[in-house]
Amino acid sequence: MGGQRAIIVDTTAFIAGFNVYSAHGEVYSVPEVEKELTGDSISKLRLKMAIEDGRLKLREPSAQALSKARETALEMGDFLSLSEVDMKIIALAVQLKSEGYTPEIITDDFAIQNVAKRLNVKYASVITHGIKYQLRWVLYCPACHRKYPPDYKSEICESCGTRLKRKPMSKDPM
Ligand SMILES: [Zn+2]
Repeated sequence: MGGQRAIIVDTTAFIAGFNVYSAHGEVYSVPEVEKELTGDSISKLRLKMAIEDGRLKLREPSAQALSKARETALEMGDFLSLSEVDMKIIALAVQLKSEGYTPEIITDDFAIQNVAKRLNVKYASVITHGIKYQLRWVLYCPACHRKYPPDYKSEICESCGTRLKRKPMSKDPM
């Protein structure tokens, strides 16, 4: 009950310009974000700085937390929509919760949000989190690769029923 707040960010949050310095609470991510942030030098530089001065902590979730995340993703039908890194983000939230924190995931990924909800883990959208860039999203099905327009009303692929993924296409400073 009411443990210290731990904010968990995924790669899209960084691309969108999430500012770890303005966050209330400790900020965490998984080691893979460093690899995922390619070709975007400003985001990468910000990430590096935040790690170096200890504002962002990278942690590998335990095998136990990871299997809890996978189990829940399977149960929710979101397994196919989640990458290994997505799964680790969820697992890290599970783990921090077991350590007494109140975790909150910052993500725009529908599948991560859905599994987090099931695990009673709070989440918030990057878009609502004081982001300085207007992202253009590519909306697609990770299973059958069908693409959808950005304003598509459902989170579910109408061809195969898989939960859709969003990824940032480009960003323009507002
Ligand atoms: Zn599909």
